[in-house]
Amino acid sequence: MGKTAIVTGGTRGIGRAISLALKDKGFTVAASYAGNDDAAAAFKAETGIGVYKWDVGDYEACKAGVAEVEAAQGNTDVLVNNAGITRDGFFHKMTPGQWSEVIRADLDSVFNMSHQVFPGMRERGYGRIVNISSINGQKGQMGQTNYSAAKAGMLGFTRALAQEGARKGVTVNAVAPGYIATEMVAALDEKVLQSIVAQVPVGRLGTPEEIGASVAFLADENAGFITGAVLTANGGQYFAA
Ligand code: NDP
Repeated sequence: MGKTAIVTGGTRGIGRAISLALKDKGFTVAASYAGNDDAAAAFKAETGIGVYKWDVGDYEACKAGVAEVEAAQGNTDVLVNNAGITRDGFFHKMTPGQWSEVIRADLDSVFNMSHQVFPGMRERGYGRIVNISSINGQKGQMGQTNYSAAKAGMLGFTRALAQEGARKGVTVNAVAPGYIATEMVAALDEKVLQSIVAQVPVGRLGTPEEIGASVAFLADENAGFITGAVLTANGGQYFAA
């Protein structure tokens, strides 16, 4: 039987490109989303990829969602924790709501989802978990204390779980994209966007397809010796130690 994958937030933006990259590699893919039914229906119609709606910030919803996906396509070989949000604001003005919404959707989600699939991966002796972090989790970004904390937290999670999965054939890695041309970035002020591009040595934003290819690489069977790694895909903007 072919291998299966779940991509959270897999219907739009970077997640969409990840879903397509994995499908191209022969995976049966389930793409989850939060609430944008129109985008999900259009994605399903266009790609034939199964779409599933649940909130990745809710543990019980993740449990039910993964059970539904696995009933349809079998055990999960690859989990991509991609779903994420931003609620930017300078720290002195940030509300507790802005803080907790981002921690919930971007970091609690990684626990909620990985906890559903990791035990089965261990038992079967095979699995790939890929977490989509961010350059801003590596270097910190003003106006994003919440997001930078969540994305940095993902990196600690990745390195710790990688050690737990290592003897069981389960790799856990992260991809840290720089600025990618998606709706999240398009929402930025034009001046801010220009100043960002000026900081990228390759002189442009990345594409979702470039992140899809990075994830597909780490999801491959032959990537079994890579674990606990952070693959930076940022056009040379930042070199993490
Ligand atoms: P988009 O806003 O384009 O898409 C986000 C996806 O996540 C959507 O499918 C959305 O569902 C889903 N989602 C959001 N919250 C939840 C939730 N609580 N439960 C389930 N699904 C949820 O984001 P991007 O493609 O820009 O970003 C994808 C990932 O890449 C994020 O983790 C982001 O932090 C990271 N990243 C992005 C960068 C960029 O430049 N864009 C740079 C670095 C990292 P729905 O369609 O229903 O809203």
